Amino acid sequence: MGLGGYLTWTAVAREIIKKYGKNIKLMPVEQHGSFYKFLYAHKDIEIFKDNEDFCLSYNQGSLNNNLILPLVLNNPNANYCKQDTPTKAFHRTDKHIIEQVCELYDISDPVLRCYLKPQAADWWFKEKIGKWFNTTISIHQSPPPFITIEPNSKTNYTPNRSYPFEKWQNIVNALKDKIPFVQVGAERSRVLDNVIDWTGKSSFKNTAGMISYSKLFLSSEGGLVHAATAVDTKSVVIITGYQSEKMVAYPQNINVNIATHGPCGLKAECPDCKRDAVNHDWREIVSLIKEELCL
Ligand SMILES: [Zn+2]
Repeated sequence: MGLGGYLTWTAVAREIIKKYGKNIKLMPVEQHGSFYKFLYAHKDIEIFKDNEDFCLSYNQGSLNNNLILPLVLNNPNANYCKQDTPTKAFHRTDKHIIEQVCELYDISDPVLRCYLKPQAADWWFKEKIGKWFNTTISIHQSPPPFITIEPNSKTNYTPNRSYPFEKWQNIVNALKDKIPFVQVGAERSRVLDNVIDWTGKSSFKNTAGMISYSKLFLSSEGGLVHAATAVDTKSVVIITGYQSEKMVAYPQNINVNIATHGPCGLKAECPDCKRDAVNHDWREIVSLIKEELCL
């Protein structure tokens, strides 16, 4: 499971506590046969740190007579991927991922918004942003408007969620004189021209923090889109034919579904996903951004 997958559990946790009581702590575990494996050493566990809904050890969770509910992250019934073959993932597509997991806990109509808190404080972000714009931003001031963008998709599982880098570049070029762009993402990412480069500069949580200061976040479907919901920044999200829109899209976002096929679930390069990406007119994204931000 990637960071995005872990983030969807934060939405589930909030709903469980809303329904079953505040004295419940959720302990993320994996189940192996009859045994639970604690996940405190897992690299992605930072998503659950600093979140009061979770406890990362039994001792911490059981303080104040709290009840502990093991959250079995590898429960196959909670997994939107119903079958995973070497070439194809078969998804359950009738509901959003968060709704699918909530169903297990008898919760309907969950709020589709993840939970995550940046590690750094407000002043830290404003200092960085101030440097980009050669100004000083006090803690009482809002930073100048900018857009955050992640043009690179994670391709280790499938290449079929990505949108052509050149088209992201065209979008930036068409709007750069009206609003600055800040590229976020992992270290050693391919970086666009005409952007402020924030790749590899902070943790995943602080990247979400930086997105929170932006007017809009642009990306194809992926982990940072889940993160942006947690910081209440609207995203313009490209959704390809790899997966169903219903399963991944957040209603608060501007979702641009470019699929003419699917959901294909293909792990190797899909000719239909490729054709959809080639055929899509990037100017549609420019118009949507202009309309949203009144540019
Ligand atoms: Zn496809």
